[in-house]
Amino acid sequence: MRTRIIIAVISLAIGLFAGAKIMEHLGREYIVNNFPIPSGTLDDKDAYIKKIEIGLEVPEKKLKKVKDKAKNIILFIGDGMSMSQITALRLSQGGPNSRVAVDEFPYSGKVLTHSANAIVTDSASSGTAFSTGIKTNNRALGVDVSGNPVENITEILDKSGFVSSVISTSEVTHATPAAFVAHASSRYLSDEISIQMSNSNIKNILGGGRKFFMTEEDGGVREDGINLIEKVKANSKLITHKDELEDIAQYGSEQVFGLFADEHLRDTNTPENHITEPSIKEMLEFSINRSKNFIKNGCNGFFVMAEASQIDWAGHGNDYEYLMREMLDLEEGIKWALEFAKKNDDTLVIVTADHETGGLLIEPSDPRKYENLDVKFSFNTGIGRGSHTGIPVPIFAMGPGSENFTGTLDNTDVHKALLEAAYQDSSGSCVSN
Ligand SMILES: [Zn+2]
Repeated sequence: MRTRIIIAVISLAIGLFAGAKIMEHLGREYIVNNFPIPSGTLDDKDAYIKKIEIGLEVPEKKLKKVKDKAKNIILFIGDGMSMSQITALRLSQGGPNSRVAVDEFPYSGKVLTHSANAIVTDSASSGTAFSTGIKTNNRALGVDVSGNPVENITEILDKSGFVSSVISTSEVTHATPAAFVAHASSRYLSDEISIQMSNSNIKNILGGGRKFFMTEEDGGVREDGINLIEKVKANSKLITHKDELEDIAQYGSEQVFGLFADEHLRDTNTPENHITEPSIKEMLEFSINRSKNFIKNGCNGFFVMAEASQIDWAGHGNDYEYLMREMLDLEEGIKWALEFAKKNDDTLVIVTADHETGGLLIEPSDPRKYENLDVKFSFNTGIGRGSHTGIPVPIFAMGPGSENFTGTLDNTDVHKALLEAAYQDSSGSCVSN
């Protein structure tokens, strides 16, 4: 009797195991092939609209005290870049087992991107979070929700003898670079922003945007009638060709404005100009080599913010080839910075983004056939008017203070972690005239 019971139990167990395995297999097939698909094609998507309250204060992130401080900080912002854009680059460069520059970073985390008044941020508000450590409303630049100016990181580090640079592939007056220099109630006050830039202590301001320094009479877009380009020529050094980045010995301690295009760099409407326009790497190399000269002459360190502005525009435009071009431009810059940091261990390199743009999705070209290696990259925001999305973005860190760029960070925590990492003293500005 007892033996029969044991045999029955064993048989039942084997039966259940085999049955489960068969069901698992059939179940997967069933789900893939027979999942009820509502009317419409496989390309149609379901959407849900829910009201989300922002509520609550941002919880305080506990930062570790950093003993060995960073004397140099390179902050890369891939505007509109989240994990799917990085994954697309990795896949297109050499498949899933290849590695891109951010894969080399020893520390990484994720950044929540919402602004004071929106789940989906714009670049002005998120740039302000990074540069000042406060949440503000979309479109506000270096000011709080009441419009009061808040000291930004280049102003704070200036007091400790840092020389700063801002680099972008958009107009230099655009939201992200402007958030590190200017204070304005709106990112669209470009007349005011450009004046503040020319009066700032930032020693290298490199990107596009000549039109924003010229009056309408001269073919520019300034509404205040001020010919700022003449002022820049008189008070700073204006350069407009990438060849002028090569010989840094010709520059003293003056501010250098590199305005390499009328509007943004690599404008497809003006391909004839591309030959004069530098890459992110070329602008970075120039800024850091000049910074080293400032350090020789008494500065304590440098801060560089380099923005790959047009990753965002490729997302808005739902343009995969454009996206890959801009990701590669950033990739080259990051690689250069990594080599620099490996030789200079007081250098902190951060790569992050202000938000994702385009809702880039990576899936099999036929959703029923995962093993088909044709991969479909699709943008999931509106065609021709793609938008920013509300998902977190990654952050990668290498160098002193990197350990604080791990786990979940609010975008304002990035500012706090940068300041915790940065060398600070009371030596005062090393660049003011
Ligand atoms: Zn955008």
